[in-house]
Amino acid sequence: MKPRTLTTHDIIIVGAGVIGLATALKLLESGAKVRILERGKTGMESSWAGGGILSPICPWNYTDAVTQLVHYSTTLFPDWSATLHNATGIDPEYHQCGMIVLPPVDIQNATAWCATHGINMQRKILPIPLPVEVNQHTANDGSDSIEAVVLPDIAQIRNPRLLQALRQRVIQLGGHLVENCCVQNWKVQQNKILSIQSSCGIFEADNYIIAAGAWSQRVLGEHALGLNIQPVKGQMLLFKFDAQPLSTIVVQESLYLIPRQDGHLLLGSTVENTGFDKRITTSVRRKLLKQAQSILPQLHDRAVIGHWSGLRPCSPLNIPTIGRHPELTNLYLNSGHFRYGVTMAPASAEILTNTITGSTQQIDVSPYQSGWSQCHSSPFPHTTHLK
Ligand SMILES: Cc1cc2nc3c(=O)[nH]c(=O)nc-3n(C[C@H](O)[C@H](O)[C@H](O)COP(=O)(O)OP(=O)(O)OC[C@H]3O[C@@H](n4cnc5c(N)ncnc54)[C@H](O)[C@@H]3O)c2cc1C
Repeated sequence: MKPRTLTTHDIIIVGAGVIGLATALKLLESGAKVRILERGKTGMESSWAGGGILSPICPWNYTDAVTQLVHYSTTLFPDWSATLHNATGIDPEYHQCGMIVLPPVDIQNATAWCATHGINMQRKILPIPLPVEVNQHTANDGSDSIEAVVLPDIAQIRNPRLLQALRQRVIQLGGHLVENCCVQNWKVQQNKILSIQSSCGIFEADNYIIAAGAWSQRVLGEHALGLNIQPVKGQMLLFKFDAQPLSTIVVQESLYLIPRQDGHLLLGSTVENTGFDKRITTSVRRKLLKQAQSILPQLHDRAVIGHWSGLRPCSPLNIPTIGRHPELTNLYLNSGHFRYGVTMAPASAEILTNTITGSTQQIDVSPYQSGWSQCHSSPFPHTTHLK
């Protein structure tokens, strides 16, 4: 039987994670008719699993391309979040809670980088293990003290709430969201996509955007060219306290503790190269707990109330690809945001919308268009199981 062709939209987006939703929102605001095709439920993959720190965990360790995108995106975040809150009634809980980076940290390098980039930074001597309300302590007489880097302006967001607000706003603005719809194939003629074949039928649009996170390269198939986006697993643990055990995000290497305002505490994460295998493991749980307990002893008698994983869309040097396909004129990509896709979402959505509508870009977007010609070297900047 011939598959049914569904109604035409200006734009079809594949994937309803934070990147697909943010892109849909920006395009709807610019007047486009948008349909999103999502294989599962909206915002339940990497975007849900993440921690919601709105910054790289050691920002001085990244390239200018990452720094520029993060900086621009974080300037958009307060208004973006407030507008979503006002329009939907769902509070994504954006707030500047600050971030403390514990040793080992290259303080000279961090100080120089923050000075160059105009980032507010302080050096603080802190007791270890950390006391409750760590922000209030500036000094310690005990022998176990360390010098840490404090970034007081770093903010966080609560991912599941951000995703719910985005979903609701997209629907409010007339976006058509099709869940449980797996994109399987493309019909291509000459240098254009004619239609998409999915588990729900055939869809047509003028333009197509892939925002399928770690699955983007798979979805593109033979059209992926030199793109190098691979799944990298991260595991997270969740705790609940009666009151916030910390008032700020605390980072030590790749380990971080994120306090939510209602007493929940997230503990992450791993950087695991296990393909599309999302299984959680007791060995990682033990390792994360052990390292975190040495920082925050209150975790010793606290039950783990959640343990999950997500697959980050890993790109070389953490630089996403945002732009038009080099050969197919109506195909676009917004993917490969690796560890910082939540942070980069509003800016990435704006860049792609400006590309499609021909509007002026606010930043130099050339670094985000080189992903198509990556060679197939490993995109993994770190190969350690648990950092
Ligand atoms: C443990 C962990 C901690 C993190 N912490 C942070 C942090 O603190 N700060 C930060 O900024 N970032 C963080 N990240 C990274 C961030 O979550 C990701 O970069 C971001 O979520 C990527 O968003 P996405 O929309 O591209 O991908 P996803 O959220 O994975 O969305 C892709 C969507 O595409 C859909 N899809 C796939 N294939 C198909 C198909 N064939 N047809 C239809 N739909 C399809 C999927 O079902 C999925 O819903 C973290 C990630 C993890 C895993």
